[in-house]
Amino acid sequence: MLKQSFPRKVEQNAFKPVRDNYLVFGAPLIGEAEIAEVVDSLRSGWLGTGPKAAKFEDMVRQYVGAGYAVALNSCTAGLHLSMVAAGLGKGDEVITTPMTFCATVNAIIHTGATPVLVDIDRETQLIDPQLIEDAITPRTRAIIPVHLCGRPCNMVAISDIARRHNLIVIEDAAHAIEAEYQGLKIGNISQLTCFSFYATKNVVTGEGGMVSTNDPDIADKIKILALHGMSRDAWKRFSDDGYKHYQVVMPGFKYNMMDLQAAIGIHQMHNIDANLKRRNEIWARYNFAFADLPVGLPAPDEPHTRHSRHLYTLMIDPAKCGISRDEFMLKAHQMNIGTGVHYIGVHLHPYYAQQFGYQPIDFPNATWVSQSTVSIPLSPKLSEDDIEDIIYTVNHILRT
Ligand SMILES: *Cc1c(COP(=O)(O)O)cnc(C)c1O
Repeated sequence: MLKQSFPRKVEQNAFKPVRDNYLVFGAPLIGEAEIAEVVDSLRSGWLGTGPKAAKFEDMVRQYVGAGYAVALNSCTAGLHLSMVAAGLGKGDEVITTPMTFCATVNAIIHTGATPVLVDIDRETQLIDPQLIEDAITPRTRAIIPVHLCGRPCNMVAISDIARRHNLIVIEDAAHAIEAEYQGLKIGNISQLTCFSFYATKNVVTGEGGMVSTNDPDIADKIKILALHGMSRDAWKRFSDDGYKHYQVVMPGFKYNMMDLQAAIGIHQMHNIDANLKRRNEIWARYNFAFADLPVGLPAPDEPHTRHSRHLYTLMIDPAKCGISRDEFMLKAHQMNIGTGVHYIGVHLHPYYAQQFGYQPIDFPNATWVSQSTVSIPLSPKLSEDDIEDIIYTVNHILRT
């Protein structure tokens, strides 16, 4: 969403805008139906958690084919509550990837557990199952695979490792609500799966998240933890059958989703397949348009998987492209095209590097991707003109 802040100074060889208005990276597609539903919530006066949150929960639950789904105010909250509900805490180790948003690792840290990073495969940019196996110790309790960019991790291999070592799998599916791995639907594979509906994600509610699971006890616990630890019946105080006393049964958090948010999500779910289809078309256009450029393109899809097309990333290797990733981004910015970076690896951020002693060389593939990757717009909101502007810009920068 946010524009990168680049130096004010206009360079002599500044690239000229290809368009009048700035093309913001990650703009969501919001229709009249979403707007009307939010207005309906406002007029009804029912802003907080209520019938629309329940309806949205049910739509997502059915879409991913899970037994239970709990709507929350973020995916970060979902990751946190998944670990709390699974009983993780001090002394436990949780294996995840450095190529993720900081929230994945922060959630581990906030439970008191220790994050253990393992490197990615350079082609897929996903956590390497063999390295997971190598990192397991007697303290390991959980694995958090991240379906980066919407490409599903090898859930057959990861589930097998988890089964053999008695580990919990919590999928970070912030990018991957539509994804499938060999006939298995993300959201219905592991003990817990967490989705994000942040403003830039495939399905948006502004801020929002959800956890899916097939375990009724875990679902119950997450629901209770999400609302102060008040007993399940407390959710019924959001109905009109009169005042009910509530009981606090554990120290919980304030992570519930508002109907105002769910109002947007309900209509986003109506369009989920159409929006994926549109991103698939844009993806194919990009693959075709950039095939001859000296850049790295996303790896082909693994057979029998469904990629959810969240991020289209180019790998800018200065040795091949003649410019660095950051120079590429500056030029795109000068041409009025916003781009993003997903991500600078967790291990390269100062807090984690200092706290856990990570060096760039500890995760060579993640370090390489961190230096090279740039995401170009892929929103279903893009017009044909927008797509042409993007394709022109990428070609222009890399050919001059
Ligand atoms: C966006 C994101 C999150 C956090 O989602 P929120 O809903 O903003 O809390 C977690 N992990 C990944 C990989 C993400 O991209």
